[in-house]
Amino acid sequence: MIGVFGGSGFYDFLDNPREVAVETPYGSPSAPLATGSFAGVDVAFLPRHGADHQFPAHKVPYRANAWAMKEIGVDRVIGPCAVGSLKREVAPGHLVVSDQLVDRTWGRDGTFFDGPETRHLAFADPYCSELRPLAVAACRSAGAETHDGGTVVVIQGPRFSTRAESESFAQSGWEIINMTQAPEAQLIRELELCYVNIAVVTDYDTGVEGEIEPVTHAAVLQRFNESLGTLREALAALIPEAAKTPRACQCATGMAAAG
Ligand SMILES: [Zn+2]
Repeated sequence: MIGVFGGSGFYDFLDNPREVAVETPYGSPSAPLATGSFAGVDVAFLPRHGADHQFPAHKVPYRANAWAMKEIGVDRVIGPCAVGSLKREVAPGHLVVSDQLVDRTWGRDGTFFDGPETRHLAFADPYCSELRPLAVAACRSAGAETHDGGTVVVIQGPRFSTRAESESFAQSGWEIINMTQAPEAQLIRELELCYVNIAVVTDYDTGVEGEIEPVTHAAVLQRFNESLGTLREALAALIPEAAKTPRACQCATGMAAAG
């Protein structure tokens, strides 16, 4: 089964959707999962911010969400998200299939191994090497201007960056900025599931001096909605392709060396 972290706008994807309430050792996930068939593939959707967007990025129950995906039988997870751009050439409306992340969040439950059992996840490549090229091809087949790779810096939120912060991230060479990829990506890997990100560029973060105003939440929502059709088309291409590709990546055995 393929899992997708998506909003309520994704539910009408599914044939015969049904809601499945899953409880986990880490509490309830953000919402009941919606499962159903999509292009002949079993898919589970979970809105990471909750059905009514009631969980801001720093309060999302990331551990419960990841656990619920595994519990329901998912082995590959697609995590679309909205991002700001830190580079002029990564423009609003583009898609980025991230290949690296930088975690600047704090205070989030970022591991399933809080002791006494201690494991150290190898996380040099945070996104699945097998799903990434499939996602790039799917995004391009949906007609989107697509960046194959990019570093996402994950900030705590819920506020957006200051100009100085944003400038510092851009000077580091990072492409995009977001509030949810960490700890989502590492928790999913700790459970030995695959994870791939499709980032929808909605804005230029603190703007472009003299040309473009800094981001607002309203602007993010508007641009994300404008890209929703393209994102759905990309998922429609990616999901059947992923389902028919045998899983031969390192994700499934990643914890064996993590002791
Ligand atoms: Zn994988």
